[in-house]
Parts: sequence; structure tokens; C-alpha cells
Amino acid sequence: MGGASRWWLHHSLMALEASLRERGSRLVVARGNSATVLKEFVASTGAGAVFWNRRYEPAVIARDSAIKSELSAAGIEAKSFNSALLFEPHTIKNRQGGPFQVFTPFWKHCLELPIAPATKLAPGVQIPAPEKWPRSLEIAGLELRPEIKWDAGFASVWQPGEAGAAARLKVFAARAMENYADARNLPDRDGTSRLSPWLHFGELGPRQVWAAVQAKSKDSGVFPPSNGARVFLSEIGWREFAHHLLFHFPRTPEQPLRADFEKFPWAEDVGEEKLRAWQRGRTGYPIVDAGMRQLWHTGWMHNRVRMVVASFLVKHLRLNWTHGAAWFWDTLVDADLSSNTLGWQWSAGCGADAAPYFRVFAPVLQGLKFDGDGDYVRRWVPELAKLPAENIHAPWEAPMHVLAEAGVRLGDNYPHPIVDHATARKAALAAFKQLRGRAVVEADAG
Ligand code: FAD
Repeated sequence: MGGASRWWLHHSLMALEASLRERGSRLVVARGNSATVLKEFVASTGAGAVFWNRRYEPAVIARDSAIKSELSAAGIEAKSFNSALLFEPHTIKNRQGGPFQVFTPFWKHCLELPIAPATKLAPGVQIPAPEKWPRSLEIAGLELRPEIKWDAGFASVWQPGEAGAAARLKVFAARAMENYADARNLPDRDGTSRLSPWLHFGELGPRQVWAAVQAKSKDSGVFPPSNGARVFLSEIGWREFAHHLLFHFPRTPEQPLRADFEKFPWAEDVGEEKLRAWQRGRTGYPIVDAGMRQLWHTGWMHNRVRMVVASFLVKHLRLNWTHGAAWFWDTLVDADLSSNTLGWQWSAGCGADAAPYFRVFAPVLQGLKFDGDGDYVRRWVPELAKLPAENIHAPWEAPMHVLAEAGVRLGDNYPHPIVDHATARKAALAAFKQLRGRAVVEADAG
């Protein structure tokens, strides 16, 4: 687990412990081999069965299957359930009986299937407690919070736990859902749900989201749901698609789905320095730097900007997408193996339904298009805050007096661009051509 996820987990466990106590129960935390610890708990509490919700990361599937066999072999009832997804990956097949690799037919197929209703424990229901509780480790003793206090900004933005999830879903459904289709691409607006970390940690399930959207639409007399609601639900569909892909292509966190990309000529020699500039938000491209700093300070980045910074890493710096995925893994509170893998492979052009590699996002144009007033950059890159909107996305093109009036000293308090866009674009396209050439030669030879 990355650092930001560990921060979330700490607070999430604290919230879970508090809500279990309200229902007369407790959270018991233990360290060790899962099956062994569970068997000890069963023995000490006289529990009749062990239940859990399924997860779909390859390593977790292997672990949980082993636990199930071991518990069953010991005569203990072991049952798992689906709560994380609307459609479990092994139940969805294309016409040929295989997995989908393109989103639109995947989602169309899913939407024809029934969705089980969301379930909820009624308020006040108590959970039966064992006569004697097993010993539990202190949550703080798990040392999930970072030693260096880089998480200072997280608490003002996030409330891990079920209550935080429910509150956020309510606010989003009431205020932003109807305009989602238009506002979701504007990073300075609160136009998306920001539900991703709660969904990842299972504090909120997609069936609950689904039900809330339908209920809100019915209440407002807009049924079937509005375009905003439908586009929003299709993003939940992308989350389903990501899980589908990871389940069927379990090696994709390390390997490109499209095998020809294994030979992509990455420019690994650009070195640590450029990677660090990207990580720290010091590339000299304001929209990229704003995104990377939003990530560092809050553990989250707007989807539009995730696409821009990812494209910058794989195309402008031509660094292997796995470097970017690793940084996101450590710094995102919503770090999720399936969605992160899909997002990075999509950006690098080597995944399912991916953006073609030759389509290189121009960071300045992306900034002008989606942050036209420059407010997103102003918020996260304060050293540029006084620049007018027409200069804020390309400060190196601003007249000297404009820079001076705004207190911007390029190369001093804000960097020059670490790569030139036109040159980088050409190099990226040349690398792609080299790959294509090779692929063609190999295809001929084969
Ligand atoms: P909303 O726009 O409100 O969407 C609602 C929900 O749908 C999200 O909470 C999320 O669960 C799901 N969703 C939306 N877009 C996507 C998508 N493209 N792929 C999969 N699920 C999606 N998302 C993660 O949850 N974890 C990651 O580690 C992650 N890494 C990414 C890396 C890259 C390079 C890119 C381009 C995208 C990544 N995403 C990841 C997808 C997406 O950026 C986030 O899910 C979204 O920004 C979360 O914000 P939100 O909750 O406001 O989304």
C-alpha cells in the first residue's frame, strides 16, 4: 500500500471501530498469516462461520482462495460475497465467451443485466458479541501514518469512513450531478463526485451509488436519469471495466496489455532529475505542475489533469508509464490497482481502448481549454497567481514586463519548461514510428 492509502486506512479503521462500538461490537486487529489468525479467532470466540467481501486484485484472489480452502479443510464455514462491483468480472463475457477489451460494448452489455439492490444495516441494529473478545492490536500501533508529515493537507479535504462517504454522495447528488457532463472536465470546479477513495476502500459500494442516483432522479422528476447522471454512471462503468481487465489480464500492472509495446523505445536516459521535476510539480508547464501539486497536497488529482500529467510523463519525457503508476500508487488516496493500471496504460497507448500513442496532449492547449481563467493553476502554483489568464499557461511566452509585474522570475522562482513541446512531440512520434516499424517488420517476418 502506498503512503496516502495508508493514511486513509488508518482513519478508515478508526471510523469503522467507532461505528462497530455503536452497535455493541468491536474491531479486532491482528498481524500474521490470515488463515492462521482467523482459525484462532474462530476457536477463541466459538464463531460459526467466516464471511467476507470479495476483491479482485490477482494477489488478493490468490490469498483469499487459500484462506477459503484452509478454513473449509478445518471444517469452518467460509463464505465470500460481492459488494465492490455492480458486475463481477467472471460473470461478464463477450459474444465469443472472452473478456471485453473495449469500453462501449462492455458497458452496453452490462446495462442489459440486472443490478442487485443495495443493502444496508438498519440504524440501531446491534451486532451480537462473543462472550470474550480476542486481543486486538491498537490501530495506531500499525504505524500507518507517515513519519514525515506530508499528509498535513489531507484531513481538511477528506473524511475517511462510511459517514464521510454518505455525506459526500449526498452533496454530489444534490449539487453537482445534473451538471456533471459539462463540469467534469473543469479542474477548478467541484464538478466531480470525489468518491473514488471511499469506493476503493469499500466504505461506499457502487450499488449504493447506483441507488442514490436513481432515487435522486426520481425525486427530481427526471426519470430515466438525466444526461449528467448517465454520464456519471458510465464513469462508474469505467471502474467496473478496470476491474474486468485486471481480473482477466492479471499481468497488466507490470506489462502492457498490447504486447508490441514491450519493445517501446522509452527514453530512460532522461534520468532521475526529470522524473523528480514531474513528481514535485516543477516541469515549467503550469497545468502539469498544478496537477502534481494538487496530488501531493491532497492525495487526489482531477481526472482531466491526471490524463494531462500522465501524457506528459510518457510522451514529453518518454518515461515508461510504470514510473508514473508507481508515483500515483504512493501519493493517491484513491490508489487502486485496477483503475491506476487502466489509466496509465490508456495514457501510454498500450492498454485496452487506449488513447492512441500518436495523440500527444499539448499541455498549454489543455490548460487554455479546461482552465481558461487559470484559476486551477493560480490555486496550486501560487508563484504564478498574479499572471493574467492569457499568459498563465505559457509564462515563457509572456512579455518581460508582464512577468515582472506578476513577480515571476523564470529560472528562479518558477522553472523554464524542462522540455520543449514541439521537440518532445517530434521525438515521441519518432519513437512510436520506430515501434510501428518494428511491429511491421516482425509481422512480416512472422
Ligand atoms: P467521478 O468523475 O466523480 O467518477 C465517479 C467514479 O467513477 C470515481 O470515483 C471512480 O470510482 C470511477 N471512475 C471515474 N473515472 C474513472 C476512470 N477513468 N477509470 C476508472 N474508474 C473511474 N481512479 C482511481 O479510483 N484510482 C486510481 O488509482 C486511478 N488512477 C488513475 C491514473 C490515471 C493516469 C488516470 C488518467 C486516471 C486514474 N483514475 C484512477 C481514474 C480517475 O481519474 C479517478 O477515478 C477520478 O478522477 C476520481 O475522481 P472522482 O471520484 O471525482 O470521479
